[in-house]
Amino acid sequence: MADIIALANQKGGVGKTTTAVNLGAGLANLGNRVLLVDIDAQGNATSGVGIAKSSISKDIYDVLVNEEPIADVILHTSHKKLDIAPATIQLSGAEIELTAQIARETRLLDAIKTIQDQYDFILVDCPPSLGLLTINAFTASNSILIPVQSEYYALEGLSQLLNTIQLVRKHFNPNLKIEGVLLTMYDARTNLGKQVNEEVKKYFKDNVYKTIIPRNVRLSEAPSHGLPIMDYDPKSTGAKVYSQLAKEVAAAHGKQK
Ligand code: ADP
Ligand code: MG
Repeated sequence: MADIIALANQKGGVGKTTTAVNLGAGLANLGNRVLLVDIDAQGNATSGVGIAKSSISKDIYDVLVNEEPIADVILHTSHKKLDIAPATIQLSGAEIELTAQIARETRLLDAIKTIQDQYDFILVDCPPSLGLLTINAFTASNSILIPVQSEYYALEGLSQLLNTIQLVRKHFNPNLKIEGVLLTMYDARTNLGKQVNEEVKKYFKDNVYKTIIPRNVRLSEAPSHGLPIMDYDPKSTGAKVYSQLAKEVAAAHGKQK
């Protein structure tokens, strides 16, 4: 039965999608069946695993808004054991359309339940907002992985994120956990990186991953080739750290195969 993890931070560009794709591929390399669920209208996770938008006939929008079976939109990727429920720009209208619908907060939960036994991990790549799509992700998930970019104001906005988590716990998903906080785009040469690391640890205590993701140019190149980092450049630092993170996450879930 899959453990469902949402990757969320309402800030854009902090490494949610990079982590969803490469953690997903890393978990698959450990023998896990992994489903990525792209709920960002940008569709970066979708293109990041090599799915051409033009080849998609149905996407997660049809699942959330029209209640079509999620099994009908799931695609295999070129990476073994890694599947994706893709998103396209069609999804950009979903928040407004869902607002007027019944059970709007549980659409993703209802969809995921139907395929949860076919995977070991389901990773939900959230958009950079705390709107209805992210609420759907939090309602459907067991836990939330929060990527935090090592930069000034790294913790800014996190209290809003935590408030949203509290609200979802109260109304829809009392067992929702914080999976962990992941430091991304870390630069060990600067004091700033170290400062952010200390601040995050002070705030989230043991909930911070031992693995820290450094800046690595190969990680930023891989998406334009439609490949997870392990397939684009297996010897890169990026591939090593995301494989390391996958081991850490798998161990926390007792799913090292
Ligand atoms: P988000 O999904 O939170 O908006 P992304 O994962 O798309 O963030 O990352 C934002 C940008 O930073 C992308 O261009 C991505 O390729 C790049 N990026 C992410 N992580 C790293 C990293 N560790 N090193 C270098 N570039 C990165
Ligand atoms: Mg993204």
